[in-house]
Amino acid sequence: MTLVIRVDPDRPDRDSIARAAGCLRRGGLVAFPTETVYGLGAHALDPVAVQRLFEAKGRPANDPLIVHVSTFDQIAALTRSVPAEARALADRFWPGPLTLVLERSERVPNEVTAGLDTVAVRIPSHPVARALLAAADLPVAAPSANLFSRPSPTRAAHVLEDLDGRIDIVLDGGTTDVGVESTVLDLAHGTPTVLRPGAVTLDQLRTVIPTVVLRSPEAADGRTAMASPGLLARHYSPRAPLTLYEGRAEPALEALAADARTAMAAGSRVGILAPREELEAIRSMMDRPDPPPHVEDLGARHDLAEIAQRLYAALRAFDSAGVDLIFARTVSAEEGLGAAIRDRLRRAAAGRIVTS
Ligand code: AMP
Ligand code: MG
Repeated sequence: MTLVIRVDPDRPDRDSIARAAGCLRRGGLVAFPTETVYGLGAHALDPVAVQRLFEAKGRPANDPLIVHVSTFDQIAALTRSVPAEARALADRFWPGPLTLVLERSERVPNEVTAGLDTVAVRIPSHPVARALLAAADLPVAAPSANLFSRPSPTRAAHVLEDLDGRIDIVLDGGTTDVGVESTVLDLAHGTPTVLRPGAVTLDQLRTVIPTVVLRSPEAADGRTAMASPGLLARHYSPRAPLTLYEGRAEPALEALAADARTAMAAGSRVGILAPREELEAIRSMMDRPDPPPHVEDLGARHDLAEIAQRLYAALRAFDSAGVDLIFARTVSAEEGLGAAIRDRLRRAAAGRIVTS
């Protein structure tokens, strides 16, 4: 049985946090809200707890975990050395949605790092995560609290959809703020490189380290030892196959509408995902079919924060609606959270990308 404990997201009560922290200390699994998505926590220095975590998620053992801590001092014990860049980034972005990959110390179990000589660390800012980490007084390995390859959870209900009965406790602190995962920045292999675009943007990172580069998606299958979610073609996916339409708006929307119409004519239940302003155009291009497709509104096209926050809930809504096929429009990756949103949509599409 999984125990659900509701907590105030801003001021979680001490008894609830103490109960969850005790569970972590004893090797249990606790899902909790962070500012990005819900994490599934386990005692990072307890290999048995970490193995349970991999089993609960169905996560392959070669996919390393991010270790969450509450103070910068705790990082010294997990790493061989802390470069000056890490301190500068910590001053600017921690607590917050940035993960740093650093050289690991002997204390970190191989299970956590998937045998790599590096460890990924971050200090989250969500008050519930902070309170839990402080009360547990441990480094906590915490991947997203979903079954492997499924969309990350942004609400406690999503965690239960995937993991009810497989984990000990869910701290329900409502909907998460950012909605996409942390930015993963590698500081252990020469030029600082973003392995996974996320809530902290490239431009923001460059205000602290001007030389930061984004790893190109093509490089993703090269350095296989450097497992990053980017290496996995299929990730963050709803159950129904999703096709993504990239490129110029008008031809992309026309292609989407035509493919959706064809699928509906063939008897498929169709889902459509697009920014609010484009949904109306798609509907009229489809000649307003009856019955209508299942439509999920991604949010206002220029409000990338809103789109990031809604993205995973929208992907999961297609599962609840029981659609057979999903046709989705992407967003511009040019600025801000766009790079992270486009990255997640591409992985949800698992290679089914139509470019106009
Ligand atoms: P998740 O917590 O499910 O969002 O996944 C954590 C991701 O962080 C992994 O899939 C990796 O891509 C990345 N990560 C964790 N540890 C390392 C590491 N030592 N080196 C590179 N990437 C890492
Ligand atoms: Mg994940």
